[in-house]
Amino acid sequence: MPASKIICPFCSLHCDDRFLEPAAQGAWEVDTDCPKAAGEFARALNTAPVARVDSSDATVNQVATFVAEQFSSRPILNVVTAGTDLATARHLQGMASAGKIQLLIDDCPSATAWRTASGREGSVTATLADIRGHADLVWALGDVERSHPKLLQRIDAGAKQGILTERLTATAVANLFASIRSGKPMGTAQSIREAKYLAILVGEGAFESDEAIETAELLAKLLWFLNQTHRAVVLSLDPAATNRSVSAWQTNTTLENLSDDRWFSTPIDVRIGNRYHHPRTAIVQIGGSDPGPDHATAYMPARTIGVDQAGVVIRGDSTVTLPLEAITDRNLSLAIEWLQRWL
Ligand code: SF4
Repeated sequence: MPASKIICPFCSLHCDDRFLEPAAQGAWEVDTDCPKAAGEFARALNTAPVARVDSSDATVNQVATFVAEQFSSRPILNVVTAGTDLATARHLQGMASAGKIQLLIDDCPSATAWRTASGREGSVTATLADIRGHADLVWALGDVERSHPKLLQRIDAGAKQGILTERLTATAVANLFASIRSGKPMGTAQSIREAKYLAILVGEGAFESDEAIETAELLAKLLWFLNQTHRAVVLSLDPAATNRSVSAWQTNTTLENLSDDRWFSTPIDVRIGNRYHHPRTAIVQIGGSDPGPDHATAYMPARTIGVDQAGVVIRGDSTVTLPLEAITDRNLSLAIEWLQRWL
């Protein structure tokens, strides 16, 4: 069978330049220069996931029995996900609306802070293509490549001027703002002031965690000021863009984030797919890679959308809807099917 082009399901950038090629003995390989995609595709295409309870392999019936015991006295389950495809998002939203689950997003605190601040102050967003085509200065905050290893390549950051700030503080933004407004900016402030098109990338750990909201609000104000005379935009890729869109369409509400203080000590009953930011232990994780007993007491394998199940996702910048193809069949159930059986 010839190589075919596929969309990568393993982060919210959803690169569409991956090639699936036949390999030896009926196995498959994905041609990728992304370490995250290479590892995830190798696991999904060429290994058989095994159910587990505590540290021991288990049958699916043993996991179901364990889960039934754990959930027998729980009137509503706390279900956490970093993000899902459209069909799963609709099912989860339906369960939440019916009062069967509390749906929470496993989100990075910096991204949550930026969403809150930009919701209050307003901000200018842009597509990947806009930034690639027009930005002359890219200001990366936090670890941009950890969750989206090919982001800088996709926006052609190597051909632009760049600034990297590992962890932005409110004081640093205030000082930048003061320097830019003084009319005599120096160093980083001068680069920002002189850029014709500034693109700010909000990565993991972008803001100092105990002042993330204040820092994000000051940054939103700085953007507003810069946009009086120049173009300044922010890109914050959201792995849960599909779930947030479904929630907004169906209920006109925003989803709760695990980063919010009110959910700080909430137990996690079910995690759908891989853990993203929060290290708390779930009673059971359905799908994704088995995170081990420290992060999920039990693990139930499930289909991966974009590997052994077709689906649709909204890219992390919320600008396009993308189809993910099924490229193999591991004879597994969907995560949502397990959850429906256990409710
Ligand atoms: S950056 Fe993300 S979408 Fe692109 S190849 Fe890597 S894991 Fe896949």
